[in-house]
Amino acid sequence: MGKRIVIIGAGLAGTTAAREFAERGQPVTLIDPQAGETYERPPLSKHLFDGSRYHLPYHLGSSELVTFVRARALQITLAEATAQSQPDASRADDPEIAGTVILDSGETVEFTHCILATGMTANAPHVPGYPDALPVYDLDEAEWIRARVEASTEQLDVGVLGSGYLGMEVATSAVAAGHRATVYLRGTEPLRRQLSQPVRDALVAAHRAAGVEFVTNLTDPADIPGGVHDLFVTSVGARPELIPIDGEVPEFAWDVNEKLATSHAGVWAAGDCARVTEGPYALAHPWACEPVAETHGRYLAQLLTGEIDQPWSDVPWHWSFQGPEKVFTAGLTRPDSADTMIRRHPDGKKMQVFHFAGPDADAPLIGVETLGWPPMQAAARRVLSGNLIPTRGQIEDPDFDLKAHSRL
Ligand SMILES: Cc1cc2nc3c(=O)[nH]c(=O)nc-3n(C[C@H](O)[C@H](O)[C@H](O)COP(=O)(O)OP(=O)(O)OC[C@H]3O[C@@H](n4cnc5c(N)ncnc54)[C@H](O)[C@@H]3O)c2cc1C
Repeated sequence: MGKRIVIIGAGLAGTTAAREFAERGQPVTLIDPQAGETYERPPLSKHLFDGSRYHLPYHLGSSELVTFVRARALQITLAEATAQSQPDASRADDPEIAGTVILDSGETVEFTHCILATGMTANAPHVPGYPDALPVYDLDEAEWIRARVEASTEQLDVGVLGSGYLGMEVATSAVAAGHRATVYLRGTEPLRRQLSQPVRDALVAAHRAAGVEFVTNLTDPADIPGGVHDLFVTSVGARPELIPIDGEVPEFAWDVNEKLATSHAGVWAAGDCARVTEGPYALAHPWACEPVAETHGRYLAQLLTGEIDQPWSDVPWHWSFQGPEKVFTAGLTRPDSADTMIRRHPDGKKMQVFHFAGPDADAPLIGVETLGWPPMQAAARRVLSGNLIPTRGQIEDPDFDLKAHSRL
């Protein structure tokens, strides 16, 4: 029997994996209620107000090698032998059935290898003053909002609860399109959990100057005054979507090792539902960003077809376009790290914050935040994925040229 590869979730990680398996001649089954109709999520929060295209489908069709199963996976049961002996299903030439996916249609699908790629579900807090408030996490939600924007002939007043990337994208894109926007946040600093202080200070100053208003220390959505906003978007995080395996679901996400394997033999996890706990890019929470979901999908196709055997090590990065402002992270960056160095462009707006593995001059560069300077983000990614990682001492040298170094 050949490999029976089943991917649950046809978002970015699942679709990329399916495409890459097919390119290697390996048949796969892709399970998702929306298989064949899934789309990119990033445009949803950026193009609600500017009339640009926000529906960008992935364009993966079913074929001889890709079988769509349009259903929701309810649970997985592992084959008894797999559950007891934990064989390494990735390497076997003649793999055994490792488990079965049970679908809401009542059907079942057996697999030798299963990739969990079920993404996340947005939290949706109730805002008493705005019973129609909704997150902007999927196409239906974006279309609901867009219909209201298109129906309006006047400037809209938009309320946003939450000041992470998505909330800021909604508010800043509304203001950039001539509307009003107020962001309500629990603490005092927007983007507090995403970016270091110099970057978030500069970004938030630009947003304030553009007209975005902020209401801080808002701990209870019931305190948001009703009747003020024409439209209300919530953006207070998301949690991994998890399917029980033999009746159990992890507390937070699927913990995976450096090769994206879960602790269940024959089961891997990719993208937003996975938390990488080992290897160079281990993190306390899912990476939850587009480039990582894509490289996870590609990596698993390469690994499970035997093309590679090394751990997943693509430099993770994130992009967020907030109105006219563009902010990026690459590698390992922490909002509170003290081991950083700032380099500002003479224009006073563009900047990079370099993150190091420690305080000493020989501490290697581990991550970079870039504000408003896309070519330098590209250079940072090249440097972090190269073999000549610069040290703190090198980068502190005023003559150090990141772009030139990235081409060595
Ligand atoms: C509005 C928005 C804006 C974003 N902007 C950015 C950005 O600017 N930059 C960036 O780097 N990242 C951004 N992201 C994050 C990025 O889109 C995600 O990290 C990426 O889509 C994750 O891919 P995924 O395949 O893990 O999950 P998803 O793309 O979410 O796909 C999960 C799929 O699993 C399916 N599924 C779930 N449960 C089941 C089940 N039980 N059975 C079958 N199928 C199931 C779902 O239907 C879905 O199709 C944004 C996300 C959102 C929501």
